[in-house]
Amino acid sequence: MMSKQAAAYQDQPNDGKRCSACCMFVPGDPSHCTMISGVISSHGWCKFWEAGPNDTCS
Ligand code: SF4
Repeated sequence: MMSKQAAAYQDQPNDGKRCSACCMFVPGDPSHCTMISGVISSHGWCKFWEAGPNDTCS
């Protein structure tokens, strides 16, 4: 797992891109990510963002 800092994670969308539309996002309570450690917001973003259905890539 990579740290939020190393991935340049931010708790807000970037140019319309957000975790909820990323293939690494795993929705839940709390939500998380297959690559980035910690709790991830559906409205967040990081530099590894990749479009696709949730939890379909790593
Ligand atoms: S890889 Fe995708 S779901 Fe994970 S923090 Fe980055 S943008 Fe969000």
